[in-house]
Amino acid sequence: MTTEVLVIGAGLSGLVCAQQLRQAGINATIVEKSVGVGGRMATRRIHGIWVDHGAQYITVKSDEFERFIYRLQEKGIVQQWTRRVYQKSPQGLVAPPPEDLYPRYACPKGMTAIAKYLASGQNILHNTRIVTATVQDGLWQLLTDQRHLLTAHVVVSTIPAPQMLPVFENVLPAQSPFMQAVQSVRFLPNVTVMAGYSLGHEIPPEWYALNVIDYPTVRWVSYDSSKHLDTATNPVFVFQSTAEYAFESLNETNLEHIGKTVLTQAGRILEPWLATPEWWQVHRWRYALVAEPLGVSCLRTTTPLPLICAGDWCAGTNIESAYRSGCAAAEAVLGCLQ
Ligand SMILES: Cc1cc2nc3c(=O)[nH]c(=O)nc-3n(C[C@H](O)[C@H](O)[C@H](O)COP(=O)(O)OP(=O)(O)OC[C@H]3O[C@@H](n4cnc5c(N)ncnc54)[C@H](O)[C@@H]3O)c2cc1C
Repeated sequence: MTTEVLVIGAGLSGLVCAQQLRQAGINATIVEKSVGVGGRMATRRIHGIWVDHGAQYITVKSDEFERFIYRLQEKGIVQQWTRRVYQKSPQGLVAPPPEDLYPRYACPKGMTAIAKYLASGQNILHNTRIVTATVQDGLWQLLTDQRHLLTAHVVVSTIPAPQMLPVFENVLPAQSPFMQAVQSVRFLPNVTVMAGYSLGHEIPPEWYALNVIDYPTVRWVSYDSSKHLDTATNPVFVFQSTAEYAFESLNETNLEHIGKTVLTQAGRILEPWLATPEWWQVHRWRYALVAEPLGVSCLRTTTPLPLICAGDWCAGTNIESAYRSGCAAAEAVLGCLQ
């Protein structure tokens, strides 16, 4: 299959890029290794309940992103979740200072609702992982894990930086400034535990969104049910580990054991009942949060052929950075095609 523009990844940056190209009259094909869309804006449906096990909330800084979030609010996809993120340390529970009282947005049907909306009408090859990129006859040739070759004039890669290195190592020398920039980006791992409890527990509003600091294993607690309007069902919490604990446990294959450690610690930090949920699931993110972004909107080269890299890691560390990078990548593609 030959396409004009091939976008690798159906996370927010890839979907926004492809959507903007479509609006400019360019057909882009998206290739996504997973069954679904959204990447790290991830939601699971467990016992009929939406649970966000990737990004927890959206913050807005730029006018451009504010307009995007406003459009999603109008469609009922996004709503303001909370303005208050409390802080829990061994010294106690602290309310946010006035300067930290700003809106955090979430999706009643989970973060992936944004991706599903953007994906509608787009040309997406699901369950297809790009393994290697080569160049032949003036075209990109991308080999998939099912041994199919996809060819394109322009490639946009939105794969997290450390994961894209092996894909492009055959065509871009490791010493090239482009690859050195990609190599400089650092990601932190994370272990996320989703846990459901029986009814009848008292849940203080301070636990809705809680930054945990100076404890060894847990860095974030949220009462996830408060984002999804189906709170009549049993309460669901999301606990995120510290990057240090996620690093330490990277070689541990028993995810249940890792999750139990996070739950036990959460029970010690807040209330003992949190350590013994009725059900729980664990997800390990090897590349969760950007530690050192590049500080550019997107990264581009025309040698050997036009390649544009986008994603949160170019512009920053969060959903808004991914959005801005996706927009910048679309502009860069249009520049290449002129
Ligand atoms: C646990 C966690 C908590 C977070 N909390 C927040 C938060 O509260 N607020 C916030 O703003 N941000 C948060 N983030 C960060 C936020 O999720 C990201 O900044 C944003 O989703 C990145 O979008 P992206 O499109 O750049 O990358 P991704 O979402 O990573 O998209 C990349 C896509 O590429 C696909 N892919 C990878 N390799 C290949 C391949 N070889 N072939 C085909 N497809 C491939 C992946 O499957 C994925 O869908 C969090 C992230 C995690 C993991």
